Amino acid sequence: GSGDGEDKVYNIATDTTFAPFEFQNAEGDYVGIDIELLAAIAEDQGFEYELNPLGFSAAVAALESNQTDAVIAGMSITDERKEKYDFSEPYYDSGVVMAISASNTEVTSYEDLEGKTVAVKVGTEGATFAESIKDQYGFELTYFEESPLMYEDVKTGNTAACFEDYPVMGYGISQGNGLKMVTDMEKGSSYGFAVMKGENTELLEMFDAGLANIRANGKYQEIIDKYIAAE
Ligand code: GLN
Repeated sequence: GSGDGEDKVYNIATDTTFAPFEFQNAEGDYVGIDIELLAAIAEDQGFEYELNPLGFSAAVAALESNQTDAVIAGMSITDERKEKYDFSEPYYDSGVVMAISASNTEVTSYEDLEGKTVAVKVGTEGATFAESIKDQYGFELTYFEESPLMYEDVKTGNTAACFEDYPVMGYGISQGNGLKMVTDMEKGSSYGFAVMKGENTELLEMFDAGLANIRANGKYQEIIDKYIAAE
């Protein structure tokens, strides 16, 4: 290319397993809403990137230590995070929900968690929510790096419940992860694409411009519908 920017290959970090936003298919390729949105936006805007699936807390740590340019990982746009990162326009609405084993008939509310241990994923909005209510309801927390490990721990009865994003838990239950939801969703934040504050501004602008274009031309909805059945 002729210009400076043209040869740039952005490094974009993501979670390892956070279906339906990012996960590996039977061939081991990364697929999901985040993966396809990013591909469609990059194509629309003509930028190149390398996908870097690290896990959620590792992706955020890589961003902070300048080892990646951006994060797309079903990452919630929270006020606290906005102090450190710049986010794109929101691209998907989320919220936090409690899930328990499908065979559990004892837990129907947060009150039933008293004296029990609850699973959360390091650095997530679900963990922050659980931390905010654990003293009130008298439960302990145990931390996992990956969502599937957390679900497995709840399914086997090691932990009484977990807190996870509603769209992710809803998808997981529909795929037979052995869990169920018995409480309403807590209000949560929408997902956004993140860069460090004041850095990679051109990438963030391209993401927003591409997102607007794929919303307008139907590609955005096509990607969502491929992974999430219309209600
Ligand atoms: N949406 C949640 C958050 O941003 C969880 C993200 C994830 O686990 N990939 O904290």
